[in-house]
Amino acid sequence: MRLVKLSYSLVALGLITTACNKGKEESGVAKVPGYDVSSLDSAFKACDDFDGFANGGWKKNNPIPGTESRWGAFGILDKENKEVRLKGIIEEISNQKDRKNGSEEQQIADYYQSFLDTTTIEKRNIEPLKPYLDKIEAVQSLNDLASVTGELQKLGVSTVFGFYVDGDLKNSKVNALYQAQDGLSLGEKSYYERTDSSTVNVRNEFVKHVDKMFGLANFKDVAPGKTVLDFETKLAKLQLSNVELRDPVKTYNKTSYKDFKALSPDFDLDAFAAKQDIKADTVILQNIPYIVNTNKLLKATPLATLKLYTRWQVLSNFAGFLPKGFDAEDFRFFSGVMRGTKQQRTRTERAIRSTDGLLGMPLGKLFSKKYFPEEDKKKVSEMIENVRTVYGERIDNLTWMSDSTKARAHKKLKAFTYKIGYPDKWKDYSSIKIEKDKLFENVVAASLFQHEETVKKIGKSVDKSEWHMTPQTVNAYYNPLNNEVVFPAGILQPPFYNRDADDAINYGGIIAVIGHEFTHGFDDQGSQFDEEGNLKNWWTASDRTNFDKLTKRYIDYFSGIEALPGFKINGALTIGENVADLGGLTLAYYALEKSLKGKPEPALIDGFNWKQRFFLGWAQVWHMNTTDEALRNQVQTDPHSPARTRINGPLPHLKEFQNAWNCGAGNKMVLPEASRVVIW
Ligand SMILES: [Zn+2]
Repeated sequence: MRLVKLSYSLVALGLITTACNKGKEESGVAKVPGYDVSSLDSAFKACDDFDGFANGGWKKNNPIPGTESRWGAFGILDKENKEVRLKGIIEEISNQKDRKNGSEEQQIADYYQSFLDTTTIEKRNIEPLKPYLDKIEAVQSLNDLASVTGELQKLGVSTVFGFYVDGDLKNSKVNALYQAQDGLSLGEKSYYERTDSSTVNVRNEFVKHVDKMFGLANFKDVAPGKTVLDFETKLAKLQLSNVELRDPVKTYNKTSYKDFKALSPDFDLDAFAAKQDIKADTVILQNIPYIVNTNKLLKATPLATLKLYTRWQVLSNFAGFLPKGFDAEDFRFFSGVMRGTKQQRTRTERAIRSTDGLLGMPLGKLFSKKYFPEEDKKKVSEMIENVRTVYGERIDNLTWMSDSTKARAHKKLKAFTYKIGYPDKWKDYSSIKIEKDKLFENVVAASLFQHEETVKKIGKSVDKSEWHMTPQTVNAYYNPLNNEVVFPAGILQPPFYNRDADDAINYGGIIAVIGHEFTHGFDDQGSQFDEEGNLKNWWTASDRTNFDKLTKRYIDYFSGIEALPGFKINGALTIGENVADLGGLTLAYYALEKSLKGKPEPALIDGFNWKQRFFLGWAQVWHMNTTDEALRNQVQTDPHSPARTRINGPLPHLKEFQNAWNCGAGNKMVLPEASRVVIW
């Protein structure tokens, strides 16, 4: 099943574009100091531009490698995880002589090999796509198209509608079927609407890109790029924006399957779902007018256009597994034009990433065995409990919330569960058939497996032990439906969690990350879910009004920040993440202060006291260089503010920051008391 991500399920710490560069062989992973003073830049004052002060040196010393569009702590650690640790694991397996057929070792080694077998890939050209292209060619009606696109969904090929399976927002213990908008190649509707020159350039280049891909495939259509862009522009008009998608109440429209089908009399949703082996009595619809209007759009569009659009989606979906021409052109547009990446990673580096993408959990099992120290579980759970305690104290002290809502907030806080490192039980992937000279078939087999696993959950109890990130992922998440925070082994490494660093650095790093995830349970979306993970109001009306007023002020504050000329931060899109950063920083600061109570004042390190080092720790995990293209893409599509804004944005609201650095009223990183927003 094509996974259409719902914007309220899983709130992650950050989106990462992953990483690597060529030529540089690494034999091991360098030790990261607690905070490296060469990162400082004396050209900036801490009180006027903290990112410049704490990271200016680092930014000068760490230009973006040609293969990346952004470069910072996440990407660097991710690159090490993949190109050193996972590579070592894959090579070790590949050198084993007696791999049992169907074993995870056989799957990993043979998939990796199939990705590297460029001779076979070139020889086969687009022949593996032929059966699917023939089916599209044979389409005679909208109903035929519904069947064919339904079948293609199982392989992950996008079309105008998508399905998703997740816990029912109003009954989070049971999995439900969701339906959502989909089908925009550029990802978000603003790409089809903005009139600034860089967005217009993206659209022009997109047209050229589609034309080039059709040429490579030897399709004879006239101006296919324009046809695809015109169709997607009409589709984009019908879609909700990424801000509108943040509303879990408006996007929850539970409907009987019968009524769902009736919404689209021309494009046969029943056939579309049946081809995906979907059986359900009810569907939760994201946006009913979208289904009605898309049906009308499909009916009004020539069938030839829809068939061309479907062929495009197939080509684009599989471009990375086709001969070099397709793969390089796909990189040129999606990584180059859209994100400013200059150079494609080596085939080996992409083979590691592709293996990780397909067989991430089996690889993660080996990764966590080798790289996650068991004793860290205990240490991290202590940190989590410290954050929980401080959160409880902060709730007690809130002046804007009534006692009855506070009691409910405590109930929710107490019910938070957590996962650390890696799953307790591992899913069995052995039924995926992987062969060393059949890359395309391997990808299809893995997609079909994933699809089956997803579809069979509909109507069944939610498995609360399931992980939605692999252990090697450098990220963390809060899942509102489980009311749980999850910290994969991948992020429990320097600079986020550094066993050799002083506490202040770790509190500014991993503890602020833990606080960030906790705060997601109480951000604009998380606060609408109760302690059992159900979308159910537990607030008094006046407390909710107070909360909304505070978040509105924080939205307006971020909306005034310009990331690049003409590209302001979208305060409403990033509010959940910005609230989580503000909360995470505050919780971590007070957890650190609490840990020092009754102890002698810690000694200065490199001339900085513990309060200052706490904020240096925060700045360090977000240090980043970013291409302009990636920055524009992020502002348009990502619920996370750009790294520089994540560092500097919340600090003027914290009197703790002002005190730590002795900032005065005239400094840029200081807001007057009345303009500060303190939520949690
Ligand atoms: Zn987050």
